[in-house]
Amino acid sequence: MASSLCFHRLRRTLAILTVGIMVAGANAQAFTSVVIDAGHGGRDPGSVWNGMFEKNLCLDVAKRLNALLQDRNMKTVMTRSRDSYVDLGERSAISNRQENAIFVSIHFNASRNHSISGFEVHYRSKRGLTLAKSIERGISKAVNARKREGEWKDYKVLRETNATAVLVECGFISHTKEAARCSHPDHRQALAQGIANGILAVKTKL
Ligand SMILES: [Zn+2]
Repeated sequence: MASSLCFHRLRRTLAILTVGIMVAGANAQAFTSVVIDAGHGGRDPGSVWNGMFEKNLCLDVAKRLNALLQDRNMKTVMTRSRDSYVDLGERSAISNRQENAIFVSIHFNASRNHSISGFEVHYRSKRGLTLAKSIERGISKAVNARKREGEWKDYKVLRETNATAVLVECGFISHTKEAARCSHPDHRQALAQGIANGILAVKTKL
């Protein structure tokens, strides 16, 4: 009696597990394009510290990321590819016109507390969290910088974008040493490589 009960329980558990795996499999679909959103631009400089304009750093990393993903045969769309102002609603609208895409917004951070440094990846959905964690791992391996814990954020650009969306804060330009690192093209290339690796690592897992 006891063993038969156990067997039934085991069968039920296996059935639940099988259904769970099938559901997970059905939900997992490879995204085919990446919307790359360089933060700020034009009349919106973003943070300005240590002689650097956030908007320029964002665009530079976005262009590098664009090239790296295209090299890996990913379709990419940039919300801006020059120093132009694009409002937040339009950024989401550009993304929402794409089929089967993810959305990656690129920013740099600043704080009045000059001792704060590090990168962080924010999200607003469960899939966003998966993508954020993967990009975090990618950046951690690619650059020598402090990893800060990404958070659930109700940012307009994440909220209004239908695709799985994250916002990468690449580093604090208000921190003297990090600003010096960010001013280096090699560091920005490594950041872009880390983000690209993080994206490609979850290509079939989101
Ligand atoms: Zn920003």
